[in-house]
Amino acid sequence: MVIKKDIKNNELDKETIKKIKEDLLAQKKQILIDLKDVGRKDIHEPDDLSAKFPEYGDKPDENAQEIADYTTNVATEKVLENTLRDIDNALKRIEKGTYGICKYCGKSIGKGRMLARPVASACIECKTKLQSGE
Ligand SMILES: [Zn+2]
Repeated sequence: MVIKKDIKNNELDKETIKKIKEDLLAQKKQILIDLKDVGRKDIHEPDDLSAKFPEYGDKPDENAQEIADYTTNVATEKVLENTLRDIDNALKRIEKGTYGICKYCGKSIGKGRMLARPVASACIECKTKLQSGE
C-alpha cells in the first residue's frame, strides 16, 4: 500500500522553511548591527531603551538637534526591536514545528503569505477578522 502524501502547492515544504529560516537569521544579524548603531547596549533587555543621546554643544540650535536626533534614535530602536521580536518568534515556531500554522485557527497560513511575510503568525482570514472585529 502506498501512502500518498498530498502536498498542495500552497503548503510550506521543508526546503522553503529552510530558506526562510536562513533569510530570518540574516535579517536578525543585520538588525543586531543596526541596534548597536542606535545605541543598544544590552539586547537582552528589550524594554530598556538606551538610544544614544548625542552631544553636539550647548547652543540652542545644537540642543534642538540633539533632541531631534535622540528622538529619531529612539524611534528607530523601537522599530528594530519589534522586528527582532517578530523574527525571534518566527524562528521559535520553526524550531517547534508550528511555523506557517495560524495561531488562532490552527490552519495552514499558506506558502504565498509566508513568503511575502515570513514573520506572519496568523492567516489572512483571522487577521482580517481581528482588524475589523470590534
Ligand atoms: Zn487563522
